[in-house]
Amino acid sequence: MTTKPEYRCEVCGIVDTHPVRWFVIQCGDSQLTVHRWSLQAANAAGARHFCGEAHSEVYIGRWFDSICSPPKPDFNAPSPVGMKR
Ligand SMILES: [Zn+2]
Repeated sequence: MTTKPEYRCEVCGIVDTHPVRWFVIQCGDSQLTVHRWSLQAANAAGARHFCGEAHSEVYIGRWFDSICSPPKPDFNAPSPVGMKR
């Protein structure tokens, strides 16, 4: 019904035809680039769209996990208090 392009947040699935405060992420095996929202960035090949900073960070977190596993043991990390496995 509409000729406007729709963009879907890849974390929560919300759809917006005119995003303003969204972010665009270009992700590769060796680097990840965050772009402020622009049509040029959003329509670029391989661009991923996120509805805000929080969900951009979710995706970035997943990307970190994907390249940094298995994690090195951190012997200096304080034991989390009140957290149960
Ligand atoms: Zn979202």
